[in-house]
Amino acid sequence: MSSPAAKPYVISAPSGAGKNTLINGLMNRFPGRFAYSISATTRKPREGERDGEHYYFKTPEEFQAMISEGELAEWNEVHGNFYGTPRGPVDILLAMGMSVILDLDVYGKPNFDKAYPDAVGILIVPPSIEVLEQRLRGRGTDSEETIQLRLKNAIDELAFANANGKYEHVIVNDDLEEALDTLAGIVNA
Ligand code: ADP
Ligand code: 5GP
Repeated sequence: MSSPAAKPYVISAPSGAGKNTLINGLMNRFPGRFAYSISATTRKPREGERDGEHYYFKTPEEFQAMISEGELAEWNEVHGNFYGTPRGPVDILLAMGMSVILDLDVYGKPNFDKAYPDAVGILIVPPSIEVLEQRLRGRGTDSEETIQLRLKNAIDELAFANANGKYEHVIVNDDLEEALDTLAGIVNA
């Protein structure tokens, strides 16, 4: 069986819906099949995060220079920090026949589509706002204030994605294995 054509797959979700869990699950299920697009960010590294592996960590000045030089396919300010997709690696990977997984917030997706009109959009949603709240608490990485902000943002993000996002696929991440099967089915289609 021949491999499906190389494409960019943009995966978005409100924080806590399970996007990172699903992306990691997908990459583990198909080792070497997909490349992960490493974003540039002005956010400070979290414990265990390495430059060039999780993100390219930049100063605000360096990030601004990347914008001025046209190096970013899209960029956005998320929760007070800047995040953007370096265009060069995406182009090289696609030219090599590798499909690329991109983790973008919902507001970055329409901008990415302008540069890559063949991008496939996948929106991960929680089964309910109550479950999203439980997952954010269960993850244990956010303060109460941050959890409340993320819940409020989730409602705005889902409304924006619905109106402007052009997501071809919406996956309700209720049972993890089922959601992973659905995601695997989409990228293998
Ligand atoms: P995101 O990347 O969207 O912010 P995470 O992948 O960090 O979300 O998941 C948030 C929390 O929810 C984590 O603690 C994760 O283990 C848990 N989680 C993810 N998917 C499920 C699921 N289907 N059922 C139960 N818990 C889940
Ligand atoms: P975190 O700081 O938790 O790693 O990511 C915060 C948010 O930034 C997530 O919603 C993630 O999807 C988004 N994000 C990460 N990289 C990019 C990017 O390159 N572009 C855009 N638009 N959003 C990004």
